[in-house]
Amino acid sequence: MKRPWKDVSVPLRDGMIHWPGDPECHIKRVSSMDDGAVCNLTHISMSAHTGTHMDAPRHFIADGMTMEQMPLEPVIGRCRVFELLDCEDQITVDDLKKLKIAPRQRVLFKTRNSTRSWAMNEFDKDFVSIRADAAQYLVDQGVVTVGVDYLSIGGFNKDGVETHQIMLGAGIWVIEGLNLAEIKSGYYELICLPLKLEGADGAPCRVVLR
Ligand SMILES: [Zn+2]
Repeated sequence: MKRPWKDVSVPLRDGMIHWPGDPECHIKRVSSMDDGAVCNLTHISMSAHTGTHMDAPRHFIADGMTMEQMPLEPVIGRCRVFELLDCEDQITVDDLKKLKIAPRQRVLFKTRNSTRSWAMNEFDKDFVSIRADAAQYLVDQGVVTVGVDYLSIGGFNKDGVETHQIMLGAGIWVIEGLNLAEIKSGYYELICLPLKLEGADGAPCRVVLR
């Protein structure tokens, strides 16, 4: 029997942590049965890069693909989760070389972000990210999809632009904002379905593994 699916997306909630400077996440009940309305109705407003979400190439590449153009292969199928729990700052080429990443793989990186950053009440500026040369190494390895366990593949004060430009420029599909606390290293089936936002540079998504 197959093991149960595990949800590795974070809950979207009103006022939740977001990238500094990006629009806040507002989720408000605008019609409520408690107040006599015939139904409950919720209004949402947020950045497309809130919580667990994907980056389309258009995020950093002026004429890059947008969310509704995303092929399904990068987000459905076998993936590999790598635990890099000793990484304190940035994932480096040396860290990645040890992993023997195969071409055409979908890879998710679990770092201390999953237990540390998501537990914080404020945005964690010191989250573990991917160094620019490590991003280039992933491109050279020919990976199709890269997932990380906080809000950006690049760091807050380092390589934020470069890492995005390198990976999105090479056509890698990026999943950000995963919570992999309950997941160990190994092979999984991945299903990640972002909203089909036309013309968008990113979209929130639900991600499950088993
Ligand atoms: Zn993003």
